[in-house]
Amino acid sequence: MRTQLFIGGRWVDADGGATFGVTDPATGELVAEVADATPADAVAAVDAAAEAQPRWAATAPRTRSEILRACWQILVDHTDELAELIVRENGKTLADARGEVAYAAEFFRWNAEEAVRILGTIGVSPSGANRMIVHHPPVGVVVMVTPWNFPAAMITRKLAPALAAGCAAVVKPAPDTPLTALRVAELLAEAGVPDGVVNLVPTSNAGPVVDAAVDRTPVRMLSFTGSTATGRLLLRRAADRVLKCAMELGGNAPFIVFADADLDAAVEGAMVAKMRHSAQTCTAANRFFVEEPVLEDFGARLAEAMASLRVGSGFDEGVQCGPLINEAAVTKVDELVASAVAGGARPLTGGSRLDRPGHFFAPTVLEGVAADADITRHEIFGPVAPLIPFTDTEAVIAAANDTEAGLMGYVFTGDLGRGLAVAERIEAGMIGLNRGVASDPAAPFGGMKQSGLGREGAHEGVLEFCETQYIATTW
Ligand code: NAD
Repeated sequence: MRTQLFIGGRWVDADGGATFGVTDPATGELVAEVADATPADAVAAVDAAAEAQPRWAATAPRTRSEILRACWQILVDHTDELAELIVRENGKTLADARGEVAYAAEFFRWNAEEAVRILGTIGVSPSGANRMIVHHPPVGVVVMVTPWNFPAAMITRKLAPALAAGCAAVVKPAPDTPLTALRVAELLAEAGVPDGVVNLVPTSNAGPVVDAAVDRTPVRMLSFTGSTATGRLLLRRAADRVLKCAMELGGNAPFIVFADADLDAAVEGAMVAKMRHSAQTCTAANRFFVEEPVLEDFGARLAEAMASLRVGSGFDEGVQCGPLINEAAVTKVDELVASAVAGGARPLTGGSRLDRPGHFFAPTVLEGVAADADITRHEIFGPVAPLIPFTDTEAVIAAANDTEAGLMGYVFTGDLGRGLAVAERIEAGMIGLNRGVASDPAAPFGGMKQSGLGREGAHEGVLEFCETQYIATTW
């Protein structure tokens, strides 16, 4: 297991030799001690990236593409090993972890195809005086800061398009899940990514380390995935150097069930939208708006499905819901549920933490949740489905949009025309229409409002890591 920093193609201890512990959220046990990067290490990583940057940018797109394709292959070939690392440090089930590795790897295959298709335009200026050539060079060195909930995919969703565009990167993974990141970096190097193009600096001291990195002159972009609160802070930080920013932030997804929906499909979609990756996704359904005539039926079916989930260590056969990432996460979910119940909500199933080692909360369905309850204002990031009744389409659209988040929304209805009309009015970057999952490397992932800036995936994803240069010339 790799536990050192990866800088300029070499494995090195942190400056001063400090380490920090990584624990298994299912047991609370220590899994490994990992080198704890300092600001000096961040500077060294940026310098290594800056040195690699011009050569990588000048590498033929076809060569970059073939290296990216090899990255896809090597990650796929190591699915079992990577999935086990993910379960060990993140806690999600082995099936979800395998799914994450496939998703993470796919960004390399998709972007291998994009690397050779970063096209510009050429035209005649309206006056006819000159030609207008527009092309897309790489933005330069990128600092990437990622969360723990997808220890592999949140990194590859940035790295693959950045590498396709010709950028070198310094990655600061989440302190809870650095082991997967380190192994991914090692595999990418094995697949042919040149020294210095990918550098990795795990740390328990995010603020100063990220500050030191973004202060370095060669850094031209900050790509962040995490909470909206941290995103705001980093946007302010990036303003000092007017860095290009890509922000993938928190969500508060509405899940709207109309009375004409296929309820079996709606419950199945709800389970996926809520419980995928042990209920800790940014796209997780956070508020379930259910039309009155089907409220009781939908609630009963959802409660039955939630109650039947097997909760436990992600490694155990048949487990469908793993632990939350840490104790603070359990406390937060517990407080949100307690406050909803104090406000009149009633658990149809679950409602409390589980009395066992590790960080477990019972899959929970709450009925009678007030539309303005605290639990509807916060990203729950846990296995709790609050049900809110509605009777009027205009009112439910207004309620769904009554949040500063705008990442994901879900609409279930038997009338596709109505579904599309409602979907278009939900202020979210992504909508699942009669589907509980939408993520796809070939689609633009990202949020409106305070859920972010920019998109990852699709052709948009690679353009995020490009500049636009216009050359005026006459011939
Ligand atoms: P977080 O904001 O606490 O941490 C994210 C990363 O930022 C970590 O690497 C952390 O070490 C770093 N960080 C924290 N404080 C920092 C600081 N002051 N300066 C620099 N870096 C700092 O988020 P989290 O708890 O790791 O992740 C959960 C959040 O991420 C949720 O809000 C979730 O919705 C969001 N998320 C969003 C997406 C998306 O694509 N929109 C995807 C996954 C997760």
